[in-house]
Amino acid sequence: MLHQRTIADSIETSGVGLHSGKKVQMTLRPASENSGIRFRRMDTDPIKEVHAVAEHVTDTNLGTTVSQNDTSIMTVEHLLSALAGLGIDNVFIDLHGPEIPIMDGSAASFILLIESAGIQEQSAPKKFLRIKKNIRVEEDGKFAEFRPFDGYRLTFDIEFEHPMIQNELTHFSFDFSTMSFLENISRARTFGFLKDIESLRANNLALGGSLDNAIVLDDYTIINKDGLRFEDEFVRHKILDAVGDLYLMGHILVGEYYGYKSGHDLNNKLIRKLYADSSAWEEVEEKDIKEIPISYWTAALGKV
Ligand SMILES: [Zn+2]
Repeated sequence: MLHQRTIADSIETSGVGLHSGKKVQMTLRPASENSGIRFRRMDTDPIKEVHAVAEHVTDTNLGTTVSQNDTSIMTVEHLLSALAGLGIDNVFIDLHGPEIPIMDGSAASFILLIESAGIQEQSAPKKFLRIKKNIRVEEDGKFAEFRPFDGYRLTFDIEFEHPMIQNELTHFSFDFSTMSFLENISRARTFGFLKDIESLRANNLALGGSLDNAIVLDDYTIINKDGLRFEDEFVRHKILDAVGDLYLMGHILVGEYYGYKSGHDLNNKLIRKLYADSSAWEEVEEKDIKEIPISYWTAALGKV
């Protein structure tokens, strides 16, 4: 039986929030079975908790924000992506500030952090969310879709009028059953355009952004001197974001996701539309699944 997972030990890190620009201290702590992913603001009195679920998403402008109990946590998607990629079901994320640190702009630092803490199997069975019907949301020529599928696959297409993001570099398909999340997705960094940065800063966004935590493009090329980690790092990062946004459903999917120029906003609308139709999805366990959608399962525990 596949069991739920938490981390074996508490572990601490700190970094800068991408949008707030503020340094924040973050500690991950083990949590009991069926508790899910819970943020706690340790700098408020009393301590306030925000359960990381899709219904709590309150802002999707350049990142995903979740809010509960009159408190908010910004930029949750890369950490959630790492937790999804390592199959962590239950964890407390204690923060001394309103935003998850951006680290290097990818999920790689969070993967390292969780691996250093160690992964602990629990006794309750792991649950999955199975897609039973096609669900689609569309807006301004962009769309996102769920489709039934025996496994967990994400496919993404992006479109930018930029010489560095053309042709085959705009498409990527990632299959959790046959490909490594750690190798293919977790290292892909967030990106932005130099021409947008001034207006972002004027709106108090991207205050912590730098070439250390984002790929920055001018009109012609990438200005980071070490270049890209993958030629198609941009579309891989959009899949990293989608894995994180979709993990706000609390479980790995048994199904397929397709995004065309999608982002945090459409991803959340897609989940809400799915939830609104109770015949479109169901919670299942390993015994109900033909094909387990996760080949990294044993690898992440070090017993390949
Ligand atoms: Zn991102």
